[in-house]
Amino acid sequence: MGGLEKLLETVGQPFADVRELMAGYGALSPEVRAERIARALELLEAPAPEAPSPGRAVRVAEVLDEDAETSSAPFSSAELDATLESRRLDLGAQAPKKLAPLGLKTYRDLLFYYPKRYEDRRALPHFGALREQESATVVGTITGRKATKSRSGMVVTRAFLEDAHGGRLTAVWFNQPWLEKSLFPGQRVIVTGKVKRRGRLVELSVAHFEIDDDSESLSAGRIVGVYAATQGLSQAYVRRAVHRLLGALGVIPDHLPRSVVERFGLLPLDAALREVHFPTSEEGLAAALRRLKFDEFLFLELRVLLNRDTTLLGKRFTVKRSDLERFAASLPFALTGAQRRVLDEILGDMAAPKQMARLLQGDVGSGKTAVAAAAIYVAVQNGYQAALMAPTEILARQHYLNLIQYLYPLGVECDLFIGSAGSRERREARERLSASQTDLAVGTHALIQEGVTFRNLGLAVIDEEHRFGVEQRRRLLSGNPDVLVMSATPIPRSLALTYYGDLELSVIDELPPGRKGVQTRLVSDARRRDVYRFAWSEIKKGRQVYLVTPLIEESEAEVMSEIVSATKMFEDLQALMPEACRLGLLHGKMTGPEKDEVMERFRRHEFDLLVSTTVIEVGVDIPNASVMIIENAERFGLSQLHQLRGRVGRGEHESFCILVAGDRSKRTQHRLSVIEKHTDGFVIAEKDLELRGPGELKGTRQSGMPDLVLGDLSKDTELIERSRELAKKMLAADPKLEAPWATRLREELKRRSRAVAFREII
Ligand code: ADP
Ligand code: MG
Repeated sequence: MGGLEKLLETVGQPFADVRELMAGYGALSPEVRAERIARALELLEAPAPEAPSPGRAVRVAEVLDEDAETSSAPFSSAELDATLESRRLDLGAQAPKKLAPLGLKTYRDLLFYYPKRYEDRRALPHFGALREQESATVVGTITGRKATKSRSGMVVTRAFLEDAHGGRLTAVWFNQPWLEKSLFPGQRVIVTGKVKRRGRLVELSVAHFEIDDDSESLSAGRIVGVYAATQGLSQAYVRRAVHRLLGALGVIPDHLPRSVVERFGLLPLDAALREVHFPTSEEGLAAALRRLKFDEFLFLELRVLLNRDTTLLGKRFTVKRSDLERFAASLPFALTGAQRRVLDEILGDMAAPKQMARLLQGDVGSGKTAVAAAAIYVAVQNGYQAALMAPTEILARQHYLNLIQYLYPLGVECDLFIGSAGSRERREARERLSASQTDLAVGTHALIQEGVTFRNLGLAVIDEEHRFGVEQRRRLLSGNPDVLVMSATPIPRSLALTYYGDLELSVIDELPPGRKGVQTRLVSDARRRDVYRFAWSEIKKGRQVYLVTPLIEESEAEVMSEIVSATKMFEDLQALMPEACRLGLLHGKMTGPEKDEVMERFRRHEFDLLVSTTVIEVGVDIPNASVMIIENAERFGLSQLHQLRGRVGRGEHESFCILVAGDRSKRTQHRLSVIEKHTDGFVIAEKDLELRGPGELKGTRQSGMPDLVLGDLSKDTELIERSRELAKKMLAADPKLEAPWATRLREELKRRSRAVAFREII
């Protein structure tokens, strides 16, 4: 009633730009109206323009800091990228120099320098309440200090503290002589450590402490963030700097549209940043972390998705039911439900004009090769050639044998391309390939060597792709074939989504029927003799045995090389096993062909027991080998143990995996028992990530994981999936993020991408 313009006079009051856009709306044609409305909605979606902020009630004033003037000059978030040296906001003359070692150069760096952990200091106990042997954090004022030298030459520093109730406590530090110079009577300190009571005396042996020189305390009486700070820089200093910055900033503009923030139940960025540095409650902190993690994952997924060229055309195959039926009929078994499901996903991609980029993940022995064979058959029926590239000769040969078994009866011409083939053989294979006589080429790197040319490659299957370099993959993929990557490495779904964010994921989560599980036992090294007696009894039944040994550090000074540890094991065994037992040795210092030869001889049962470091291949399939012994099992990751176990249990024989633990600690037992109890590689991988904890995820980061500061790949699956869903929606709506609502988002994305090198997949 009265029209949109009339309505805007009232409810549109705060949105001047929208009202301007809508001026004269009633007189416009329907087309122009539609366009105006669309633009108005975009404007409304955009994050609120930054208010020319008077600054929020300037909290700077709460904090006294001698070397900084308490100026309340507003500091706009547009200036966050200024360097600390610019002194746009004065954090103290020393700030640039003091904060530089933490990698903090700009105000933005400081704003996003999150605490690495938190301590609940809302109610610190008074000294009288401390109990023997507990670990506690207390606050007190120094009344005196003393340094003494023990008879053994150790310097012991003591500070005498008094709490608010007049209670007394002695804080003790060992061997930190420099401390004496930084502890003064009158200082308030917050100390954490173990309590020792000697009658009325309470002693605390200090593990961690802070000098609390805040007048308005940021360091006690609240949940306190603890920063990764270097020596010579106090926690309180960092806190104060961040506090001053936050106080000077007006509302920090959000890079996410308000509607998204609401729909996903997120905290606005401004609140999240304030809360992450100075939590007001546990719930507030949790919400803040959730928001900031969400952002990390969102930008990660956006980068990955943007980097993926969705316009890239691959091949378009016609998938005929009759072809699939013929393939199924020639298989010696029926595909499992999981195999059928992933095959449908693959064929769906192959039928579309877009280039397929799919990761087929399945535990060892889950039947990936059979699925790949079906896809290959479809490609070949469409008149294309197919290739399967494996990282080693032994794997290539094994795939080749499997694939001809499935595909030769269907009239598919296969050829094997490996480096060790004779030169004439190689030339002839190349000629057949370029003349299109070959439908399927299986091989190693030899497939992408000079002179190997496909006539029309339609489908490329890559096994264990992480072992190939970008260049190598590129060469195989130059004709834009559809690509299927197979991996047996069980990667938790959350990790796969992120690490392989630009590949679609298919998972075979079911083993073919009738698999006998591998009986897994954890034994201590005291029973090693029994283990080898058992191995010998299996060998006498005609079975074969793998023995895997990790690198062993002989002594602190002398790290034994891989070759030495395996060789030593080999020698030990010669003494331990009956003479009739034939032994073989495999280690990482052998060349590829040497390794392949050992494996080939083992396959032919030319010896019974293979001593090896971890180089035995992931996909190696020797059904007669039914016992896997792993020495010093505690030195392996759980996923790695699971992979190793997958080498056995591949034939009709009852199979065994024996983990010999050289370390009998509870923790080791607990960790290894995961392998004893679980058979699902994905569950194990997840437990592995959990047990190793986020600390070791840094390793993941170094190996190409873009930097996740807060995000935890082992736990944040839900957030990862939600952020990925949002990233996809955003890009579907606006493929280049050009709309007004995305302006800040795009800037933030650019900022965060600067440091991170993209992982190239295809
Ligand atoms: P992966 O490549 O995933 O390790 P493979 O494709 O090599 O697994 O399959 C392992 C073994 O299981 C092979 O010997 C294969 O013949 C067999 N196999 C595969 N799928 C089935 C199935 N659906 N039913 C029975 N056996 C199967
Ligand atoms: Mg396989």
